Amino acid sequence: MPRTIAHVDMDAFFAAVEVLDHPEYRGKPLIVGGPRGSRRGVVSTCSYEARRYGVRSAMPLSQAARLCPDALFVPGRMTRYAEVAEVVRRVFHEFTPLVEPVSIDEAFLDLTGAEHLHPSLPALGRAIKDRIAAATGGLTASVGIAPNKFLAKLGSELCKPDGLLVVTGENLDSLLLPLPVGRLWGVGPKTEAELNRYGIKTVADLRRTPVEWLVERFGKFGPELHQLAYGLDDRPVSSGGDPKSLGHEETFPTDLSDPRDLRRVLVSLAGQVGRRLRQHGFAARTVTLKFRYADFTTLTRSRTLSAPFDDDDTLLAEALKLWEKVEKKQAFRLLGLYASGLVPAQQLSLLPDRKRQVLAVMDELNTRFRREVVVKGRQLE
Ligand SMILES: [Mg+2]
Repeated sequence: MPRTIAHVDMDAFFAAVEVLDHPEYRGKPLIVGGPRGSRRGVVSTCSYEARRYGVRSAMPLSQAARLCPDALFVPGRMTRYAEVAEVVRRVFHEFTPLVEPVSIDEAFLDLTGAEHLHPSLPALGRAIKDRIAAATGGLTASVGIAPNKFLAKLGSELCKPDGLLVVTGENLDSLLLPLPVGRLWGVGPKTEAELNRYGIKTVADLRRTPVEWLVERFGKFGPELHQLAYGLDDRPVSSGGDPKSLGHEETFPTDLSDPRDLRRVLVSLAGQVGRRLRQHGFAARTVTLKFRYADFTTLTRSRTLSAPFDDDDTLLAEALKLWEKVEKKQAFRLLGLYASGLVPAQQLSLLPDRKRQVLAVMDELNTRFRREVVVKGRQLE
């Protein structure tokens, strides 16, 4: 099944947080790592203004000071960076529970199944960037979106800073083929030198190289090199353990009180959560309804079933039971629906075959057309 993976990388993160907290630093070459004149320290992060002078991460501070005598030097404040990173991490989880952190300021997001909620992949990428900026008070990130991790990361690298690049079958070759082989995942300086020795300098050269020859020279890594030359990579996004819950919530542009409007939202949420459960191969045992009143009071109600389920009907039925008991004393600002107590669905035969086939066809069509083209009758009520 095709996947949608994003690689999100904060731009000059530590330096950007310093500028956020000290607006007077904006537009200046800024070096985070230690005081000027420090003999032992190295550059941890520097602003793009400092990079123009050739300053780079991991460079001795003394060398940075020679290259950029006017730079501002500040010591790092890891507690503060971790605090902002936590805000960013929460934004990632608004989009998907499948988040694999790479470092404090960088992560892979498996957005498979979330595409339908946005008009297009660029719109989804912009939504991530906008939410990060709003939640942090203005930090920028570079976002690569692609069918796999390798291309997503390449995408964010190529569009830095404050960029967005969606890698598709159409632009893949023009982006990938001219790159030096050293840019490929896992190709270190040694392998690059070895490839160069045989005249294989670019990814285009590598693609022309027979896989048998690569296996002879590089053993197990040979087939992998061959795959990377075609932009192929099937490593999963690993969130370090299975996600604890899958869900969606919707904040309304104006508070809702009409029971029919609210029911329609619940039906749509059940459809979205059900589809994502199936796309990720999970069944759930617990349904949680979240609601926020006009006065911002936010409450949740849960039900746990004896048997796991992954179909929209059960989800909706349980959500409606919970909803019946909710006091409708005010209008609502938000409704959310979550499925938790997740178990791998393939171990279970949960639905009669025919019902399962219908769901599979609906999911497949909805994925292909990237929006809700196929809905059950009740959603149109
Ligand atoms: Mg970064």
